[in-house]
Amino acid sequence: MTSDSPAARIVPRISFEFFPPKTPRASMALWESVQRLAPLAPDFVSVTYGAGGATRERTMAAMLAIRDCARLNVAGHLTCVGATRAEVLKVARNYARLGCHRIVALRGDPPAGQDRFRPHPDGFEGAVELVAALSGLGLFDIRVAAYPETHPEAASPQADIEQLKRKLDAGASGAITQLFFENEVFYRFRDACAAAGISAPIVPGILPIEDFDKTVRFARSCGATVPGWMFKAYGHAEDAAAHDLLSTAIATEQCDELLSEGVTDLHFYTLNKSELVFQVCRALGVEPEPARIAAGAG
Ligand code: FAD
Repeated sequence: MTSDSPAARIVPRISFEFFPPKTPRASMALWESVQRLAPLAPDFVSVTYGAGGATRERTMAAMLAIRDCARLNVAGHLTCVGATRAEVLKVARNYARLGCHRIVALRGDPPAGQDRFRPHPDGFEGAVELVAALSGLGLFDIRVAAYPETHPEAASPQADIEQLKRKLDAGASGAITQLFFENEVFYRFRDACAAAGISAPIVPGILPIEDFDKTVRFARSCGATVPGWMFKAYGHAEDAAAHDLLSTAIATEQCDELLSEGVTDLHFYTLNKSELVFQVCRALGVEPEPARIAAGAG
């Protein structure tokens, strides 16, 4: 077997992001997705934290359900928005009490109607302070957010990378990126991080596109570029089946190329849907674990 044979390709370590459901129907959708994806044995799955902490209880409930029923390692996201330091750390301690010792630590977006983030008078100034406080608890493996195309509030790409370095120096063990579609963007960012002295893993955040129009709106809001060729390609997708095939092909190719450029871990934004993510992972060589299928993942 030669080193460039397909069998020698690295199979990625994967993780999945879910969001806490609001309605019984959304809970069912989440649950079906977790059951479908659990046999792929992700390293961990994470559950987001709604703007302003609005989903505090629902985030925790979803984390518990995934841990208990699917027996997966669960990470809770946590933000600083609209809460005192004590309140935020209480949520973190509750995560630990549930046996969840991974946190994705974030500043969070300003609440609707506010142009910029203003810390609570007794709250954390931003992600750096949050990471430092969480690190001080000694209970967590902490991941932070990274922005290959630069956070919209950053003074410059370099300032953004320096902010990432501060978050890592404060105690985070690695970063997960905002979505991106052009791998060159990621490679440039990775090189710039290395040049700035960052050696912690930076895991690409991958979004297999469920709905192209919605993705375009979301990407604009977070400063991610949707390349022109994608508009052309989705413009030719005549029905839902063609759309999904295209999305599977695009995400698989993106991941495959990342793996060939030394990436070992991939974090998938699932939007609580499983099929595209499942197909992409399978195409990348991730095998479902028979024991987990037999157990119905739960
Ligand atoms: P920070 O790193 O604290 O700051 C954001 C940017 O502002 C920095 O990149 C930097 O450019 C600039 N900045 C801030 N402070 C300074 C400073 N002192 N000096 C210089 N520059 C500074 N949001 C949610 O509400 N809930 C979630 O669950 C959630 N999960 C996410 C998961 C991932 C993987 C990613 C990439 C984002 C997620 N977000 C979530 C969005 C995130 O909250 C927003 O992008 C938010 O605006 C920034 O959070 P941060 O932790 O990156 O902030």
